Amino acid sequence: MAARGPARVDHAVSSGTFTLDGETFEVDNNIWVIGDDEECVVIDAPHSVADILEVVGQRTVKAIVCTHAHDDHVRVAPALRETVVAPIMLHPADKPLWELTHTDVLWDVDLADGVRIEVGGTTLEVLHTPGHAPGAVCLYVPDLGCVFTGDTLFQGGPGATGRSYSDADLIAQSIRARLFALPEETVVHTGHGADTTIGAEKARLA
Ligand SMILES: [Zn+2]
Repeated sequence: MAARGPARVDHAVSSGTFTLDGETFEVDNNIWVIGDDEECVVIDAPHSVADILEVVGQRTVKAIVCTHAHDDHVRVAPALRETVVAPIMLHPADKPLWELTHTDVLWDVDLADGVRIEVGGTTLEVLHTPGHAPGAVCLYVPDLGCVFTGDTLFQGGPGATGRSYSDADLIAQSIRARLFALPEETVVHTGHGADTTIGAEKARLA
């Protein structure tokens, strides 16, 4: 049996496409895996099951948590579920987006604000942060001093709100009320691109 270390965050980048409102773009998505040597949670399931499994390694996957249901975050979630036998978790407000990508299968467990997901001796706390998508969530990990923001907050500002099911006022409200309430030194792991911190983004938007 492998020795259990403290929980850690592992990361890779996966390339593919994002399609919405009849337009398709090339995108690089971050794959985030949090856990210890035995078990982990996968945050978002973008373009390739193989890319995700490379980060997971031999560990047991406890859950596949989707930050929102844009196709570049959920495309391979059902295929990954088949491979690792773990539940897909999604906020139900993103059902209309999910159904644009997956017409024949659903996710398994509804996420809601305040839900806690335990893995590898640490806890992910679900923050419902609608705006980029109605069911967009962030996952705050107080033990590790980090938050996974999906497409709600990037290095440089809020996520896009120009397409269907997005709301610019709502994302601003979510970021100010929920994310900017976190400690300033909290590291922000985003859905695309580089990390930032709550303090850096707060200063930028001030
Ligand atoms: Zn998105």
